[in-house]
Amino acid sequence: MLELIDVTKQYPGQPVPALESIRLKVKPGEFVALLGPSGAGKSTFIRCINGLVAPTAGQVIWNGHDVTAAGKETIGRIRREMGMIFQHFHLIGRLDGLTNVIIGCFHSLSLWRAVTGWFPKEVRQEAVQALKRVGLLEVMHRRADGLSGGQQQRVAIARVLMQKPRLLLGDEPVASLDPVASREIMDLLREIHEQEQMTTILNLHDVETAKTYATRIIGIRQGRIVFDGLPQELGSKE
Ligand code: ADP
Ligand code: ADP
Repeated sequence: MLELIDVTKQYPGQPVPALESIRLKVKPGEFVALLGPSGAGKSTFIRCINGLVAPTAGQVIWNGHDVTAAGKETIGRIRREMGMIFQHFHLIGRLDGLTNVIIGCFHSLSLWRAVTGWFPKEVRQEAVQALKRVGLLEVMHRRADGLSGGQQQRVAIARVLMQKPRLLLGDEPVASLDPVASREIMDLLREIHEQEQMTTILNLHDVETAKTYATRIIGIRQGRIVFDGLPQELGSKE
C-alpha cells in the first residue's frame, strides 16, 4: 500500500542529504517504529510520506498514486487518508477540545465556523464520540491550552479519528510527554491500531517504547536505513 522508491531529500544549504535512497514497502496493518539519533532524518521521512516535504529525488507511492507527482487535488485526498500527529500537538490553544476535533474535518471555512460556533449536528455528535473514545468527555469544553500534554495529544488523536484515515503518521508523538502520559498515549495508539487495523508509522526515539509497541522497527542513521526487522531482532547495541 505504501512504497518508497529511492527517496532522497537534500535540503538547500545542507552539506549532506537528510535522506538518501530510501527504499521500502509498508504493508497494511503494520505498526512501524522509526528509530535513530536526532538529525537522522526520521521527521523528514514521515513528512515525505504525506507530501509535507517534497523529496529531491525518488517516489512515494500510496495505493498506486505517486504522492511526489500528485496535483493539488490528489494530494488533498491523499492527506485526508493519512492522519498525522505531532510532538507539539498542533491544536488551536484558545479553542476547546471539542472545537479542535470538529474543525479537523473542515477545511477552508473552519475558523469562521469555529468563531460562529456553528457545525452540523452529526459532525458534532461524531466529534463527541471520538473524544469519548480517547477518554476526554469530561474536559472537552476546556480550552486546549489548559489541558495537560497527554490530554492535548488525545485531542489530536480524536481529530485524526474524525478523518477516518487509512494510515496514521506520528512525528515524535510522545517525545514531550512524561512517562505515564507517554505510555497512555502509546496504549491508545495500539488500541486504535488493533481495532481498526490502522497502519501506523511513528517516529520514536525510545528503543524500549518501540520494542514494546511496534511490529516492525526501522533504524535510520544519517539518512539511511541501517536496520529493518522485528522488534526482537533489534539487539541492545542499536
Ligand atoms: P530527525 O527527525 O531524525 O531528528 P530530521 O528529519 O528533522 O531528523 O532532520 C534531518 C536533517 O535534515 C538534519 O540535519 C536537519 O538539520 C535537517 N533539516 C530538517 N529539516 C530541515 C529544513 N526544513 N531545512 C533545512 N534542513 C533541515
Ligand atoms: P513539531 O513536532 O511540533 O512539528 P518540530 O520541533 O519537529 O515541531 O519542528 C521542527 C521544524 O523545524 C520542522 O518543520 C523542520 O522541518 C524544521 N527544521 C528542522 N531542522 C531544521 C534546520 N536545520 N533548518 C531549518 N529548519 C529545520
